[in-house]
Amino acid sequence: MNGTLINYFFHCKRQCYLHAHKLKTEHTSDLVKLGKYYHKEFEEKDEDKKMINGVKIDKIEGDYLIEYKKSNSDVKASEYQLLFYLWKLKQAGIIKTGKLKFKDNRDDKEVNLTLEKEKELEMIIQKIKTLINSDQIPPVINKRKCRKCAYFEFCYS
Ligand code: SF4
Repeated sequence: MNGTLINYFFHCKRQCYLHAHKLKTEHTSDLVKLGKYYHKEFEEKDEDKKMINGVKIDKIEGDYLIEYKKSNSDVKASEYQLLFYLWKLKQAGIIKTGKLKFKDNRDDKEVNLTLEKEKELEMIIQKIKTLINSDQIPPVINKRKCRKCAYFEFCYS
């Protein structure tokens, strides 16, 4: 399990499934390249970046675990990805508050890992495991956001 799968589960079940099964067409997507560029640009200023309990930390700033995102187009997916990281840190004895920082605006979002959210995360992880262990690829969702997805060609050709 990882943060990307959590993010994709909220963004699109099919995307989550495809990513889990290593159908990684993403390297061909300019948008993904752009996202990685922005990520790198932010990270260049970060000297504290490290792996903790299997989580690649963008940045720790005082009491905050910072996660950088290119845009706030899918805040819920980003929020649960960050909750997953907070949860993994907590398991390593590190308690932090999350903060999402978006490249395309300055409206940071604070994310708190409550006991309720932890229980919800456990249920989400079970759902993701069921999803990716299935023989059935989830259907194409036919949404506007598909146009920006790295799997667009795979899904619509
Ligand atoms: S193109 Fe659309 S249906 Fe296909 S994986 Fe991406 S978001 Fe999901």
